[in-house]
Amino acid sequence: MTASSPPIPTRADCLALDAEDSLRRFRDRFALPEGVIYLDGNSLGPLPKSVPERVNRMLVEEWGGHLITGWLKDGWMDLPLTLGDRLAELVGADPGEIAVVDTTSVNLFKMLSAALAMRPDRKVILSTTDNFPTDLYMAQGLGALLDKGHELRMVAPDDLSAALDETVAVLMLTEVDFKTGRVHDMARLTAAAHEVGTLTLWDLAHSAGAIPVDLNRSSADFAVGCSYKYLNAGPGGPAWLFVASRHQVAAHQPLTGWLGHAEPFAFDLDYRPADGIRRHVCSSPGVIGLVAFEAALDIMLEADMAAMRGKSIALQELFITLVESQCGDFGLQLASPRKASATVPYLRGGQVSFAHPKGYGIVQALIRRGVIGDFRDPNILRFGFTPLYVDFVDVFDAVEHLKAVLNHGEHLDPRYADRASVT
Ligand SMILES: *Cc1c(COP(=O)(O)O)cnc(C)c1O
Repeated sequence: MTASSPPIPTRADCLALDAEDSLRRFRDRFALPEGVIYLDGNSLGPLPKSVPERVNRMLVEEWGGHLITGWLKDGWMDLPLTLGDRLAELVGADPGEIAVVDTTSVNLFKMLSAALAMRPDRKVILSTTDNFPTDLYMAQGLGALLDKGHELRMVAPDDLSAALDETVAVLMLTEVDFKTGRVHDMARLTAAAHEVGTLTLWDLAHSAGAIPVDLNRSSADFAVGCSYKYLNAGPGGPAWLFVASRHQVAAHQPLTGWLGHAEPFAFDLDYRPADGIRRHVCSSPGVIGLVAFEAALDIMLEADMAAMRGKSIALQELFITLVESQCGDFGLQLASPRKASATVPYLRGGQVSFAHPKGYGIVQALIRRGVIGDFRDPNILRFGFTPLYVDFVDVFDAVEHLKAVLNHGEHLDPRYADRASVT
């Protein structure tokens, strides 16, 4: 260590940081098991205590008490749009630009179809080799279905600008990389796409709730995202889609179910799309999942995003400093961008990843000790730093556990030689 290095934070320093943390009051809003340090909110957010209450009210009072009249009386039918308007506040969209429906993959399919149909003379979908595979798979499936010669062109993230030209119909990107947390500059890349007449489709699965998102200030055309990661809506919670208002007359999606019809209860034999965002709804909404999301979202909207981002970065920096100073001899390599910023360009999202050849064993040994992170093939250990329920002292204790795992060789246990089906 050089004389100019700042001192390594102690446990007492972390407790002092927690004592003055303005977001600390939110921790008690989440049901976290005793003895668990949860660093996986980037994969599945924990249960907000308000969710069982809200879901139970929906079940007992609304469904049980109102039966079919709940579709109107309790606003079930409009929930995809009313909840979309609330989510719009978090991600910089206007009312009427977001619907909460289906799954991220299905919404990606719908939005990509809509965007491709708006650029009929162009055949290239441009994406990156490190995009989340479901996005690439959905694009491949859609291309095969359309059978019009579309090409999914995947390039390294640094080569995107050079690959953008007038053959590209849609630039389809995930803003925050799921393995490394690296963040694309959404506004800059969208502007570069628009310069050559390309539409943009952003996957915000690791963005919404993790970093400030401003869809309209970024001039995004289309976007999709999920609710069960940083937004804490529960496993398989409903996903969402965004269509910029300027595209809402031109944008059509192919899953033309009755609830995207202009008059579903006219029971016409011919499909006629509803105006606005409603045409991107296909089927009867899953009300139980929607009300769970609504209750979880209320917490996010109550917290200040700038404070959340600031604390998330501070937690991440503490983690990197402690891991590198305490566990530096064990071959852990930082796999995330070293810098993160509270303002654009954000550079790194809500997670920190390290690479290690025995990464799977390390993650499993940590889970046995109550420190929950996750592992992504081939060698990535991921840790999410979600500021509403992770404290500075949790980060300190997690690194103490990591040090103990490595010192005792717990990760070399033969039981970790085979990977489970969910890593
Ligand atoms: C988690 C995630 C998804 C999930 O897709 P589902 O259809 O909800 O299973 C999609 N895209 C990205 C980038 C993700 O991180």
